[in-house]
Amino acid sequence: MPYRDRRSPVPKRVAALLDAARTRADWKRLGAWLDDEGRPLREPLLAAARREGVELPDEALSWPGKRLLRRARGAEVSARERLNPIRIDESFTCEHCARQVPPGLSLVRDHCPFCLRSLHVDRVPGDRAAGCGGLMDPTGVELGGRAGVVITYRCRLCGYEHRNRAALDVEPPDDQECLRRLAALGERWEEDLPPHPPEE
Ligand SMILES: [Zn+2]
Ligand SMILES: [Zn+2]
Repeated sequence: MPYRDRRSPVPKRVAALLDAARTRADWKRLGAWLDDEGRPLREPLLAAARREGVELPDEALSWPGKRLLRRARGAEVSARERLNPIRIDESFTCEHCARQVPPGLSLVRDHCPFCLRSLHVDRVPGDRAAGCGGLMDPTGVELGGRAGVVITYRCRLCGYEHRNRAALDVEPPDDQECLRRLAALGERWEEDLPPHPPEE
């Protein structure tokens, strides 16, 4: 698990830990781990939670890991996410290719269909709960399973890794040529890419 990896950057470990802590059972298990091994993560965890608007007193640093994690994750917030996810589907200007992206309508548009870039803003699609805001570069394509075609991502700012479903049934859909190159070449998919690919 990425939050256990001591060589990994602390913001990445904190983001992974918060992302993993969703249920009562998670808080218990991960809280126990935080008590034993996660001490260096307590302060950054508190700071990250405060940046996202969770109110925590200073003494939270000495709380049992389970309680700290539950409150840092925002127990009320996570309950709301499960019961009534706040979906935001809006048009946006891509921060990478500067093209205007229309809303997905039938699904939440969480990446640009033209250059496939995403932003590190969601914990669950559309909730805009992560506070990083970094540009996420596609790193590969996974096929099969219930989710269908999935694009894997890594955040340029904090290194957080994330997966988004490819948007194939919306207008415009994800660029087929980009997906094909990404599947074949992984992170090197844009090398030698001509600025204006010729029509086939
Ligand atoms: Zn774009
Ligand atoms: Zn990030």
